[in-house]
Amino acid sequence: AERATVAAWTGPATTADGVHVKLLANVADVPTAESAAQAPVEGVGLFRTELSFLNRADEPSVEEQAGIYAGVLAAFGAGRHVVARTLDAGSDKPIAFATHKGEENPALGVRGLRLSFDNPGLLDRQLDAIAAAAASSGIETWVMAPMVATVAEAAAFARKVRDRGLRPGVMIEVPSAALQAARMLAVVDFLSIGTNDLTQYTMAADRMATDLAHLTDAWQPAVLQLIALTADAGVTARKPVGICGEAAADPLLACVLVGLGITSLSMAPAAVRPVGAQLGRVTMADCRRAAEAALAALDPEAARAAARAALAR
Ligand code: PEP
Ligand code: MG
Repeated sequence: AERATVAAWTGPATTADGVHVKLLANVADVPTAESAAQAPVEGVGLFRTELSFLNRADEPSVEEQAGIYAGVLAAFGAGRHVVARTLDAGSDKPIAFATHKGEENPALGVRGLRLSFDNPGLLDRQLDAIAAAAASSGIETWVMAPMVATVAEAAAFARKVRDRGLRPGVMIEVPSAALQAARMLAVVDFLSIGTNDLTQYTMAADRMATDLAHLTDAWQPAVLQLIALTADAGVTARKPVGICGEAAADPLLACVLVGLGITSLSMAPAAVRPVGAQLGRVTMADCRRAAEAALAALDPEAARAAARAALAR
């Protein structure tokens, strides 16, 4: 019976007492966007633009980039919005034309938004391409930067995005950014927590290392605390704070995240129905109780058990 409820779930997502939670898709390119557009989502919460360029030796022209971005936007049509992330090159996503070579510690190196400080034209050209795609498609387009560590970086990025008539945001993937969330929100319109990297950097544990899976777990109390801090900043500033890492795809954790004040969850399309159906079974008060219980737990297993018990009450 539960499987039938999940398969039949159509969205938009609300808790049992009618609180709206935006469910969004993570996409990589035109084919994944076209397939994600069939899922019951309100748009795209993470368009990983770099994944189209993984095997490119040279930077694609503004026109070519604009064509790819317009294809992704067109898959979604009017009424839904798309959050495009600027190039997240480096470390686990090496891009030939944008990645520094010979770094000893690529995960702590010149990656993500940091690349645009020694190659500002790269970011400018990508923003021109995104703005052109947004204008030609008429789709509401937000733009966010990956791997932001300081408010100054966020402010410099936001200026460039606003100059092009688009809404700027930053990803919260580095503990310093989570700790500064309120100040980040003074310069951008929204935040999106990338729990994969936020967990990696909070726990000092490589996200690709399978033998560190007990540490690379978003249920770790330190990670939950940083998410709570970021969500609180959003509630206070009345600005959206979403999640776009793997954590958003865990139905139990989704309830905790909503209870913490997170306003949107972006995930692989296959996770949308299970998460949407689960949110429909609980009230906002249940989610808040689950969040409080999870935050009070001393380890991931205890946090899961406490959240489950809080929702079963
Ligand atoms: C993340 O780090 O959680 C995230 C969503 O970005 P990516 O997985 O592409 O690094
Ligand atoms: Mg990331």
